[in-house]
Amino acid sequence: MAEETQTVQETIKKYKIEHDRPNCIGCAACAAVAPDFWTMHEDGKSDIVGCKKRDDEWEELDIEEKNYQLNKEAADSCPVNVIHITNKETGEKII
Ligand code: SF4
Repeated sequence: MAEETQTVQETIKKYKIEHDRPNCIGCAACAAVAPDFWTMHEDGKSDIVGCKKRDDEWEELDIEEKNYQLNKEAADSCPVNVIHITNKETGEKII
């Protein structure tokens, strides 16, 4: 039982990454830093791999804590700050 609880804890998607895709300039920095999460689309902009596409053309994806640092680095590498990360537990907007 204890083990089961731990497994659930480990797979909680604690962070949400959001991509303001309309304002992406397609520099490809995010895809270079975190290619498992960011890919370049043929229209020249990036996409979050496996994301949910919103009506406002933003993209979003919930991620586990173990994938936070890499996506934070991708967000830090974005020259126009269109990658945002929120801690879903605290509501803190990290970037
Ligand atoms: S780093 Fe920013 S501007 Fe560059 S492709 Fe990624 S999201 Fe777009």
